[in-house]
Amino acid sequence: EKGFIDSIQFAINGNQAVLEKDEKNIDITRLLLKNPLFPGEKIIISSPFRVRIPRTFSRFGHIKQSYQITQWYPKPAVYDSKGWHPMPYLDQGEFYSDFGSFDVTITLPDNYIVGTTGSLQNEKEMRWLDSLSAVTKEIVSNTKATNKDVVAERSSKKAKAENVVPSSKRLKTLNYKADNVHDFAWFADKEYLVMKSKVSLSNHDVITWAMFKEKSSSLWKNAIHFVDSSIHFYSKWVGDYPYPQATAVEGALKAGDGMEYPMITVVSDGFQGVKSLETVIAHEIGHNWFYGILGFNERNYAWMDEGINSFYENRYVEARYPHHGLLPANSVAGKLFDLTQYPRSFQNYLLYDFQANRHEDQPMNIGAAEFTTFNYAAIVYAKTAEVWRYLEAYLGRDYYDELMHNFFNQWKYKHPDPKDLRSFFEQETTKELGWLFDEIIPTNRHLDYKLKKIGGTKVIGSDTYQKLTIVNKGDIKGPYTVDGIKHNKITKEIWYEGFDGQKEVLFPKGNYDAFRIDAAMNIPEVNRRNNTLRVSGMFRHIEKLRFQWLGSLDNPKRTQLFFTPTIGSNNYDKLWLGFAFYNSPLSNKPLSFLFMPAYGTGSYKLIGVGEVNLQLFLPGDFIHRINLSSSIKSFSYADASTFGSEGEANFRFIKFTQQIKLNFKQPNARSTVQENLIFRNIFLRQDFAYLITPDLITNNFHRAINQLTYSLENRKRINPFGLSISIEGGSSQEGSFYLKTYVEAKYRITYSGKKSGVDLRLFTGTMLSDNSNLRYSNFHLGPTTGAKDYRFDEIYLGRMESTGWLSQQISISDDGGFKMRTDGMIPELGYSDTWIVAINSKAAFPYFLPVFVFADAGILPAMDIYSTLQFDAGIGIKLIPDIVEVYFPLIFSHDIRTNLNRTDIYNTWYKRISFTFDIGKLNPFELIRNFTF
Ligand SMILES: [Zn+2]
Repeated sequence: EKGFIDSIQFAINGNQAVLEKDEKNIDITRLLLKNPLFPGEKIIISSPFRVRIPRTFSRFGHIKQSYQITQWYPKPAVYDSKGWHPMPYLDQGEFYSDFGSFDVTITLPDNYIVGTTGSLQNEKEMRWLDSLSAVTKEIVSNTKATNKDVVAERSSKKAKAENVVPSSKRLKTLNYKADNVHDFAWFADKEYLVMKSKVSLSNHDVITWAMFKEKSSSLWKNAIHFVDSSIHFYSKWVGDYPYPQATAVEGALKAGDGMEYPMITVVSDGFQGVKSLETVIAHEIGHNWFYGILGFNERNYAWMDEGINSFYENRYVEARYPHHGLLPANSVAGKLFDLTQYPRSFQNYLLYDFQANRHEDQPMNIGAAEFTTFNYAAIVYAKTAEVWRYLEAYLGRDYYDELMHNFFNQWKYKHPDPKDLRSFFEQETTKELGWLFDEIIPTNRHLDYKLKKIGGTKVIGSDTYQKLTIVNKGDIKGPYTVDGIKHNKITKEIWYEGFDGQKEVLFPKGNYDAFRIDAAMNIPEVNRRNNTLRVSGMFRHIEKLRFQWLGSLDNPKRTQLFFTPTIGSNNYDKLWLGFAFYNSPLSNKPLSFLFMPAYGTGSYKLIGVGEVNLQLFLPGDFIHRINLSSSIKSFSYADASTFGSEGEANFRFIKFTQQIKLNFKQPNARSTVQENLIFRNIFLRQDFAYLITPDLITNNFHRAINQLTYSLENRKRINPFGLSISIEGGSSQEGSFYLKTYVEAKYRITYSGKKSGVDLRLFTGTMLSDNSNLRYSNFHLGPTTGAKDYRFDEIYLGRMESTGWLSQQISISDDGGFKMRTDGMIPELGYSDTWIVAINSKAAFPYFLPVFVFADAGILPAMDIYSTLQFDAGIGIKLIPDIVEVYFPLIFSHDIRTNLNRTDIYNTWYKRISFTFDIGKLNPFELIRNFTF
């Protein structure tokens, strides 16, 4: 059900207009005037148009008989001091339209309830809405009443089977008028409950409406108060709401939780939680002041609308729920994770800080369409809200409010841009705001002050001052505070103007335990760990250690060490129990570590993993990020039975890895391409044994592997692909040596409108040199079973098992990637010490079933009795996509089929099943480092 608009026939003063199509956008057209139009002159442009309403997507459409009629008529572009601003419709990126007066007439079946931009002109309809609001009051106060009681006429006709209220045969024509608005939206539904109220402002009353479905009545029963208090608070803080009415409706929105239009706000149905509903209503109604009345150009300066509005949204929530911080003060999660100390605005800081610390943040002042989806939230909304809180703290709330009132009154209906905002603030305050308008807003530079030294004292007149040395480690010269702290409370706070480099400042002498920069956390600093110095003590810049279970936010007032008990199991260590210790579960710290020692209850051995990762970001256009890491991993991987004995012995491996990963910079932030160059050096020590009956002689084996991989991944939504090229060499203690190279290419043909599709993979590899007769490093068409994973990269539940279900675990992330195992076939099938080429395909079932079909084919030099072409195919089930998948191979090439029947371990259908259990992909630290959106 796609929509369209047609039958447009523009006329200028009644004569057909000459049009010029826009080359890039089908929804933009230019009207060419015969004569220039001079200031003060006027022309009349008219056009019929016909719209077919689509099933709702983005902001416009209908879901069954609930209508969201927005962006529905041809709209003139704004002409301002910078010229024309034509703009196509975008899902990410809002509007810039000119102010005008609307006189809209809507004819529709009699029993529709309509909410619009504009004031209703029909008295009879107004009386009907009043009667509905009286009944709604009864319904929401008495949960037993039903919608049927609302309009007797309508319920009598209600077709119960269809569960749809039939449209009345009678039509009604409604008229709405609105002045000084730049858009007109309307919403119609036959099942709305209606609530009506009134807010009195200094010189006029505002009628308020809330319209919602009966099924949402417990959620919406106080919504009318939310509308009222939004109008009240924003009027108080920014300037009086100038319009005669304000409405909030529930609708089938597909672009976020809510959407603003002049005088009317739509909130998505299926919303959870009364407090979030109130927040969304306040936010969307709040847009009236910025997008609506000031008329900011949101497409170019989205921050001016969404960001400044989010600042007020935060204020609104704090005003309504003063004791409610980031989490409610008495919430279990808040106590458990040490989160009760943060204010509600901290959620904005966290989003910004997460992106800033990964150097993935973008400047505030770029076009809406240039932001990544994540940055649209983290920068446009969150960073701006925090920056505005910073400005408010710097100017002081009362003074800031006074300025904002004056700005609003001077600029309403005039489309001010950032320059107008800046010159207004600079004129009114005589403060230099270059740090804000030249540094914070147009760049992605960061704020970071450091308190370096507590010096001596200085006496000026009768006052004594403490000398403090401050260093600006960031690249913004913003103002900052220094706070004197006594018993963890701010006892004195002073604002200082910003500077570059290092500076000594004077702070009134007093009885303090510590000095701290920005103790009130008003400044969006990217590093708050260097803000404090204690007056006395041994480690004056190190905060007290706090042990914290599982994880929490980065608390600059504590040195945090996180821990969690761990449990796992494999076939050799059996059940293992341990503890994980780490420093950085949710953020991207320059240095992060994880140590997870554990004890194997079957092997009686200390096992586990450890990793230290150093992360650096580089300036310039070439390399974005470097990760240097060092890790150790040791588990038992075999037992006596692996080597043919019945004893009790267990055999472990220890793997040391040193890795350098370069992540290359992409041309723009919205690029879906990731390019990495990874070099790793692996050193492996592997215990093993051989049986000289009856004794098991144990020994160990050392190997080193060096691997260099270039990888490119394009994660675009339609047909994503990836490519990796590797060269790898290895040597072992007895002098064997190999060198090989391999290429893997992946391509997904996505089904239209879906994430899933047909996955194709091509793998080819060739041995460049090989003097080893150990064969471990050679290529294989078959999947990588535990025994074949010579780099110990994967996690196997029973690495060396050759029978039983544990032996059926495979990995398909390297080599031929067949799903049918070929281990144990004699001679070994699919093995090559020269080259292989393999192609894999997997087609997802296009509907909801987690089922797919797969087919693999490969060629390799003909060997012994085997031919050069091999293949398998079958069906599979995704239990956890890409992590746990089960394969049922059904069709085989002749050589594989022949072998299956004569090899004991494959001679029954269920022994041929294989599965992946790629739990390594769930590493939360890697996921956070590589998070893109
Ligand atoms: Zn918004």
